Amino acid sequence: RAKSDGRNAYRFYAADMTEKARVRVEMEAALRQALDGDAFRLLFQPQFELSTGRLIGAEALIRWEHPTQGLLLPASFIPMAESTGQIEQIGTWVLEEACSLLARWERAGMRDLVLAVNVSGRQFLKGDLVDRIQAILQGSGCDPRRLELEITEGFLIRRPERARAMLQEIREMGIRIVIDDFGTGYSSLSHLKAFPISKIKIDLSFVRDVTSSPNDQAIATAIVALGRSFGLSVIAEGVETPEQAEFLGRCGCDQAQGFLYSRPLSESAFIGYWKTQQSQDADVRTSHPGFGVENTP
Ligand code: C2E
Ligand code: MG
Ligand code: MG
Ligand code: MG
Repeated sequence: RAKSDGRNAYRFYAADMTEKARVRVEMEAALRQALDGDAFRLLFQPQFELSTGRLIGAEALIRWEHPTQGLLLPASFIPMAESTGQIEQIGTWVLEEACSLLARWERAGMRDLVLAVNVSGRQFLKGDLVDRIQAILQGSGCDPRRLELEITEGFLIRRPERARAMLQEIREMGIRIVIDDFGTGYSSLSHLKAFPISKIKIDLSFVRDVTSSPNDQAIATAIVALGRSFGLSVIAEGVETPEQAEFLGRCGCDQAQGFLYSRPLSESAFIGYWKTQQSQDADVRTSHPGFGVENTP
């Protein structure tokens, strides 16, 4: 009896593997189609300086306009794209799109906005990322000082020497490096010293309960203090309430983004948002910018 159970279990296991392999093959083909058919979009989530309420830029967040499933979030395709290697082409598309937008915004007079782009660790592993970025910058003519790359700590840990060399070259181009989701990985103080980092981003998991959980308060406060003592800017993500913004501002966090201010917006909605901000009086901007603004992408 045990034997036949074992055999059944094996059969289920094999069926499961076949199913997984099939899903993977289908997904890979769908992603290739999406790349060929221009089905990816970038949305833009505004970022603010907490002390003044000034709009400082945006984070670019990818979406997939799927032919049958609608607008897909990155969580439903980025992990697969990382495992098939297609993240390299997707990442190149994101960088090209971001740089051409920056150049366009610059021409339209949206001059001092910064655009933050997420870069997957896997993109760094492929040797030519630095050259590719250089080529994209040249092709687009955008100002590298307005580009930020958000990376997570995983890659820094796995290949520290290589990471340092690559980040150094990127920094020398004028691009700033941000550590995304700070505090969730293997955060090590040595990173802050060893890598040419400009900013750290407090993960939204610490922001969520920052007004009620003493632990999260301690973590957020410590991250801000850490950033300050290394001379880095600190930004918080996932800010949803005025109380969270106020707490973060009080402990010295420089910048914030989150649903309180705006959901990720289409390019045209983001430009509209920027225009509204421009025309608002300074006294309005000192409180909570964008609060109450219609937030449909
Ligand atoms: P992330 O870089 O940490 O991005 C923040 C995520 O939090 C975004 O989810 C954003 O929509 C969401 N968010 C923003 N404000 C709030 C808020 O107030 N409350 C809550 N609960 N969530 C908020 P999204 O767009 O689904 O992106 C998820 C992750 O996918 C990103 O995390 C990033 O790691 C990855 N990703 C996004 N775009 C790209 C890309 O172009 N390339 C790569 N490699 N990864 C990307
Ligand atoms: Mg990010
Ligand atoms: Mg993040
Ligand atoms: Mg995050």
